[in-house]
Amino acid sequence: MADVKTALVTGASRGIGRAIAIALAKEGMDVAVIATADSPAVQETVRLIEETGRKAYFAACDVSDFAACGACVTALLEEAGTIDVLVNNAGITRDKLLLQMREEDFDDVIAVNLKGAFNMTKALLRHFLKNKAGNIINISSVVGLMGNAGQANYAASKAGLIGFTKSVAKEYAAKGIVCNAICPGYIETDMTGQMPQAAREKLCAAVPMQRPGLPEEVAAAAAFLSRSTYITGETLRIDGGMCM
Ligand code: NAD
Repeated sequence: MADVKTALVTGASRGIGRAIAIALAKEGMDVAVIATADSPAVQETVRLIEETGRKAYFAACDVSDFAACGACVTALLEEAGTIDVLVNNAGITRDKLLLQMREEDFDDVIAVNLKGAFNMTKALLRHFLKNKAGNIINISSVVGLMGNAGQANYAASKAGLIGFTKSVAKEYAAKGIVCNAICPGYIETDMTGQMPQAAREKLCAAVPMQRPGLPEEVAAAAAFLSRSTYITGETLRIDGGMCM
């Protein structure tokens, strides 16, 4: 079954990452689920992938750890034979106004959201070059485009991810590797569920479509980009019109 593609999705234990993992499985791909540790949520993602008839792999890996990403990709390549699509989805928030933001709040968010994408992309690049093909999808945010009070660290990481995406796209376009970014707006997940009700209502009011998006609506865009052969360096907003 050499023609079956394999996707690697980071932060796929829940939320947008899980929805993307399932959407790519429905596209006919085997999927490697990456999360910091095994958990019932990870096992549920694995079950949902297998339910589509595709194979699921799991590897525990903290994406902020460069060496761990290399080891994780090496082990997965050995097990799966190939990886064709990389989705850098793992992300965290440490929201605070800049006055209260501690050095570690900034460093932690950059380490996972931005350096995590660098680590995983570096780990897979030689394999993509050898294959003369690769599809990288970075999950950024509309906050990376427009900034957000209380999220200087997160906005910097997500804006950085857009610059990273365009640079990788330019460097490797001629080698058959495409790299795109998705910018979700306000999506209903555990991440946004932690926000106070008033903040969520305020966010919703800023969305022309007047409702939060669903993880599956972001996943549909990832599935589309995973098929793309002539789209690269693109930044695709999935935000109900929030940022235009
Ligand atoms: P979530 O908190 O529900 O899920 C995040 C996932 O990342 C979890 O599986 C978590 O275990 C994993 N993760 C965290 N740190 C990790 C690490 N160091 N190594 C490996 N995995 C790690 O969040 P979500 O809402 O599903 O968000 C997914 C992505 O989408 C994030 O990058 C987030 O910034 C982005 N995003 C979300 C929204 C939204 O409204 N929910 C909007 C824009 C962008």
